[in-house]
Amino acid sequence: MFLDRDGVINKEIGYLYKVEDFEFIDGVFDACLDFQSSGYKIIVVTNQSGIERGYYSVEDFQLVTQWMLEQFKAQGIQILDVFFCPHAPDSNCSCRKPKPGMFNQANDKHNIDMANSWMIGDKEADIQAANAAGISNTVLVKSGHSIDEKNTKAQFVFDSIKQVSKVL
Ligand SMILES: [Mg+2]
Ligand SMILES: [Zn+2]
Repeated sequence: MFLDRDGVINKEIGYLYKVEDFEFIDGVFDACLDFQSSGYKIIVVTNQSGIERGYYSVEDFQLVTQWMLEQFKAQGIQILDVFFCPHAPDSNCSCRKPKPGMFNQANDKHNIDMANSWMIGDKEADIQAANAAGISNTVLVKSGHSIDEKNTKAQFVFDSIKQVSKVL
């Protein structure tokens, strides 16, 4: 189970890098507990161009990540891994979604069954990246960016991550 971070796990505020600004989306813990009990491992794949843009450092990102993982752990949720792209759009890297680089990294490291994996995102780029990595089970949630519900390639569109477990 691949999850985008901003707009899926936490409320999207744009270039979040402080723990005090991190607000979990309602129902995210219950959803992840459901994923776990259905046998899914949870991996986060997140674009963090604020790093290359100079808005915050890799260390800032890691501190927030560490804190986030502790909050999940306190709820009994194990996040298998977190992959991030620190690059700006014009750097043309292979990891920034809509490119599939982070999914490929995850697959190389954890040997994932991509055909039976899911991606939950709040942007079309999340869905495109997942599709390019061979993941066809995709959910677009409306909790972050505004989305084009008619033209999305996502398999499902939900208000929030809360509703994903009903289609697993
Ligand atoms: Mg997002
Ligand atoms: Zn990148």
